[in-house]
Parts: sequence; C-alpha cells; structure tokens
Amino acid sequence: MPTCPRCGEQNPENVTTCNKCGIAFGHQVRANADASRAKTRSAVRLAAWGVAVVAIIVVGPRLYHSAVGAYLKFHLKSVTSSSMKDCGGPITESMADYQKTQIESCIASNADLLKAQSDYSSFTKSDRP
Ligand SMILES: [Zn+2]
Repeated sequence: MPTCPRCGEQNPENVTTCNKCGIAFGHQVRANADASRAKTRSAVRLAAWGVAVVAIIVVGPRLYHSAVGAYLKFHLKSVTSSSMKDCGGPITESMADYQKTQIESCIASNADLLKAQSDYSSFTKSDRP
C-alpha cells in the first residue's frame, strides 16, 4: 500500500497518483531508483580504487625490485665486459699463464667492476630473508 510522500495518505495498490493531493508516485519511484543506482556506482568506484591501491602496494615494490635487479645485472655485465677489454681480455687458452694472471689481476682491481659486483651481491642478499 503506497503512502504518499507529500501528504501521508494511504493509497490503494496500483495507483500512480495520490488520491488525496494528486502527487504522481512515478517521480518518487524513479528518484529512489536513481539514488540506489548512484549508490551502486560509487560503491563500484570505491572497490576499483581499493583494487588499484592494493595493486600499487603489492605489485609496485616487486616491480621496482625486479627493475633494480635487472639494471644491476645488466650494469655488472657491461662493466665486466668493458673491464675485460680494458685489461686486454678476454682470456683465451692460447695465452701464456703470466698473461692470464695479468689480465685477471687487472680485472680484479677494476674499481667500477668491484662496485658493480658489491652492489649486485648486496642486492641479491637482500632478496633473501
Ligand atoms: Zn498525497
């Protein structure tokens, strides 16, 4: 039994206007539907935000972490090959032992390479709890 929102008159079922004051009930029904639709929309928006925030919190650091790891690995590789070239490498089997030792000690004393190696090893160590 619809109650008139304006005058409070109890109207019989299936009437579209109030028997007492004549207000149309259709507007009221539609307004309620709009309000509930808006509520659903904002709930969906809130949920989407929640998912986005969780994604940033969960995936963000991992993505950053793996990007740093990939960079350090790449950097180490390029420093290794450039220090190898600087020292007259790469070492081949046909080289004399003193040459191999010379190249090895040259590479081992390369400051850039040592830095890249320690950066990468401290990164991979921090990877494991
Ligand atoms: Zn009424």
